[in-house]
Amino acid sequence: MPWRLAVAAAIVASTALGATLLHVRATTAGDDETLASRGLLFPLKDASRAIFRDNFEEGRPGHRHEALDIMAPRGTPVVAVDGGRVAKLFTSVAGGITVYQFDRDEKYVYYYAHLDRYATGIAEGKWLERGEVLGYVGSTGNARPVAPHLHFTIFRLGSDKRWWKGKAVNPYPYLEAR
Ligand SMILES: [Zn+2]
Repeated sequence: MPWRLAVAAAIVASTALGATLLHVRATTAGDDETLASRGLLFPLKDASRAIFRDNFEEGRPGHRHEALDIMAPRGTPVVAVDGGRVAKLFTSVAGGITVYQFDRDEKYVYYYAHLDRYATGIAEGKWLERGEVLGYVGSTGNARPVAPHLHFTIFRLGSDKRWWKGKAVNPYPYLEAR
């Protein structure tokens, strides 16, 4: 290739790379860089049986979803995406059997809902290792019994660190490839 063409090709290539890097940086701006650096595990142990796509922005009756629904057979083990202690074990009308887990800095909460049941030994305050089974996929709360799934999201906590008052952050970009 004549050198002029080679230089032109190199400029095009570096511009495309630069645009890609800028895009990555834009989607992980602010304190979300923390999440990007964590290498969060996929929250189901048997990922190959899960149907996974980004449905964070979808509408749900009366509100924006602000979570990922990961369809999987009932009883599929749900694992902690990161190390951190259990903030709260809570049963609600909408979420059914749920786990709220702090991240290690207690700046974020990982929220797992519609569980069929908790794993043995799970308790509030207990430290969960990354990958530790915390419960099993189910359809408790307002999930349809014929469509068991894990409802998973991340909440960024305020300075008061109240587990039930976070702002939802889309986990999709931060979960490790299956
Ligand atoms: Zn959901």
